[in-house]
Amino acid sequence: MDAGNRDRVRDIGRAPAPEDRVPGRSYSTLRPAQPVIPQPKRPKPGADLITRAAAVFGRTTTGVTWPYGLATPSRRNYRDRPDAYEEAVQRAQEAQEAVTAWAERYGLRSSQSGCCPRWLERTTSRRCRDEGCTHFDAPRPDAEWLDHTVAWLHAGRPAGLTSAPYDVSPESRERLSWWTRSVPELRVAQGTGWYGFGTTQILMWRSDILGDEVDSTDLRKDLAARQ
Ligand SMILES: [Zn+2]
Repeated sequence: MDAGNRDRVRDIGRAPAPEDRVPGRSYSTLRPAQPVIPQPKRPKPGADLITRAAAVFGRTTTGVTWPYGLATPSRRNYRDRPDAYEEAVQRAQEAQEAVTAWAERYGLRSSQSGCCPRWLERTTSRRCRDEGCTHFDAPRPDAEWLDHTVAWLHAGRPAGLTSAPYDVSPESRERLSWWTRSVPELRVAQGTGWYGFGTTQILMWRSDILGDEVDSTDLRKDLAARQ
């Protein structure tokens, strides 16, 4: 029987394979034995967060350029401790959600160039090149509190620094208040950050860009507000 005339259901299973069909001939009555139902593409869990975070932190070939300590942990590091692994993943995802929501709320993107409050004083993002970076060059008066630092841009301008030190010494407190006295636009606040592990969070920001009120008392409440 000519394959082109097979139009009854019982012949469907014997329809010629695509490579055996005659060019130009209609096989439209030969329906496939199993109809192909288009499946809606379901986003992977967390795909929305990845997309949002990539806009804030940028992308690597494998994912998001998360700040230090915020990447999703590797299962290899928890080989014999599945419970600890699940907990670490959960903690990382909460931190990722919190930091991303906070950045979105204030229209911030992370910068790889930001280094210290001198960077915050500039109108364009440029890492200190000469001697005198207060984070990296001697005598590094801001190095102690600038631990796990993220530098933040607003519309391309240096707008904030967040850090997560384990401790804020009296010298660091004095240094922070020195900055706010010396540079009228700068504000400093301390809160509970996304880094965790018992760290506190310092936020230093430009009030002329972000306003006087920037939430730093409990940055995780951004997460709670979204749920
Ligand atoms: Zn600097």
